[in-house]
Amino acid sequence: MLGSVDGGQKSVQVAVALENTFAGEQGTFYQLRPEDLLKADAEARRRGMDLVGIFHSHPDCDAYFSKADLENSCPWYSFVVLSIQKGEFHHANSFLPDADQKVAAQEELQYPR
Ligand SMILES: [Zn+2]
Repeated sequence: MLGSVDGGQKSVQVAVALENTFAGEQGTFYQLRPEDLLKADAEARRRGMDLVGIFHSHPDCDAYFSKADLENSCPWYSFVVLSIQKGEFHHANSFLPDADQKVAAQEELQYPR
C-alpha cells in the first residue's frame, strides 16, 4: 500500500499487487519477495509517496491477524487484512505490530463502503 503518513495517520493512495510466492496452498499463507517490497518502496518514492503497509486477504475467513501474520510482519508497516467471502470483499481490519512482533494493535481503519 503506497500513500502518505501525516502524524499518526496513514493514507493509502495506491494498492500495488505483489505475487504471493508461497509454494503451498495460496489461500492459507502469503510470502513476498523482499526485492518486490523494495521495488514497491522505490515506486512509492518515485511517486512522492511512502510504502505505508502491506495488505493480504483471508478467503472465506474473518479479517483477524493470525500468529503467522504476526511472525511474518515487521513493526513499521500497517498490515491490512481483507476478509473475502465467496469471492467478494466483506470487511477489513488494520494491525500495527509492536517492535518485538509480539503483539499487533488493531488500528482504526476507514475505507469506502
Ligand atoms: Zn493473514
